[in-house]
Amino acid sequence: MVKWRTSGTKSLAANTNFPRSLRDGLKGGLTQWNRSGSGLKYAAPTYTSGWQIYAFRASYTYSNLMGPAPGYAATQRSGSSHNGGTLYLNNRFTWVNGSQNISARKADVQTVVVHEVGHFTGLAHPWPGHCTDGTAYTDAEKKSVMTTINTGTRRSLNSDDVRGVTTLY
Ligand SMILES: [Zn+2]
Repeated sequence: MVKWRTSGTKSLAANTNFPRSLRDGLKGGLTQWNRSGSGLKYAAPTYTSGWQIYAFRASYTYSNLMGPAPGYAATQRSGSSHNGGTLYLNNRFTWVNGSQNISARKADVQTVVVHEVGHFTGLAHPWPGHCTDGTAYTDAEKKSVMTTINTGTRRSLNSDDVRGVTTLY
């Protein structure tokens, strides 16, 4: 996977048209990673009007990169690292800040964001494949935010996720 070029605090920007109902979950999915004790931190998101020129930004739209997934992490990769990219949340889903049901097209903001921010962090799924494919192998992997996002609601890091981020940073 592609990790951040440097550790430190990463700041995500979103346009002021980013839905207000999703902002708590966006913040929660970012700052959840700060509980790991690693050298990588995520600031609370900022909202600005106008064209999004920021290196690390969130967009509430559909990108054909994401296929049927509710979220997608598009890193601006250079070699084995990146310095930002776009976090897409699929506006074809109904978004909630609570229990999700992806097969019914109902997505929890924090579950999806904490997973996609895990990809920006440099963590892969416990198996190869898309964000909504596959089967987790171990109990820890099943509880990881990096396991498949269509099998339940997971808003908090588990031991597997903490081990991953503290190994990388
Ligand atoms: Zn994924």
